[in-house]
Amino acid sequence: MNHSAASCEVSEDRNGIVIRGERECWISFFYWMFGYWRLVIYLDDFYQIFYYTVKNYTVKILEGIMSHHTEADQALKKLTDGNKRYASLKQKHPNQGVRRRAEVSKGQKPFAVIVGCSDSRIPPEILFDQGIGDIFVIRDAGNIVDDVALGSIEYAVDHLGTRLVVILGHSKCGAVTATVQGGEAHGHIGSIAKAIIPAVKKAKVKKGDIIDNAIRINIDLVTKQVKTSTPIIAKLVKGGKVKVVGAYYDIDSGLVEIL
Ligand SMILES: [Zn+2]
Repeated sequence: MNHSAASCEVSEDRNGIVIRGERECWISFFYWMFGYWRLVIYLDDFYQIFYYTVKNYTVKILEGIMSHHTEADQALKKLTDGNKRYASLKQKHPNQGVRRRAEVSKGQKPFAVIVGCSDSRIPPEILFDQGIGDIFVIRDAGNIVDDVALGSIEYAVDHLGTRLVVILGHSKCGAVTATVQGGEAHGHIGSIAKAIIPAVKKAKVKKGDIIDNAIRINIDLVTKQVKTSTPIIAKLVKGGKVKVVGAYYDIDSGLVEIL
């Protein structure tokens, strides 16, 4: 049977040529329309599939770029939330039980790296109210970094997949205070003072409290040093995979300020 609208006058069936009536003509027309609409629906389906495929891939690519930022931001929030709990004496002491010990025996996945001062008043796990396997900590007097410290950070960001690095300085830092005051540094202490001197020099030409300014400038300089450390960290920072931030801990209030 011919289903085109142009041929509604005559058509063939098994018995030969027959003249079509109005009814057959309409049926033929609807068949033709159905075929047309089916094509429209196919094209629409194709468009929809094409549109959503392109859209989904675009979203996935953007999500891939953003997810690293999101992970780092979530990690930072986890730290600041924990610090608020600590400062207000509402600690949860998470991840410190037998269950956590069993969990981390399989491996570690710390969500943040903390480069902090060795000062006994600044234990990162306590002041951020975190537990075992949560944060990867590097500590030395003055929260400065050398090749060994940078290598430790590289291990965390490159091998353990940690997305956030925090350079944590603090008020009343003895290492910075001693460097500001000068004097003779015996033994290996001189190498600590040498690393802090650039911050002290900058603080001397700034208004305000020289020690506190030097502490904050030192945090800033170390943050920049870590961010631009080649070949590993700088590349990850540039690619949006790792975030490096400076932070200042107030010994009196117990609060951490993200700089
Ligand atoms: Zn210190």
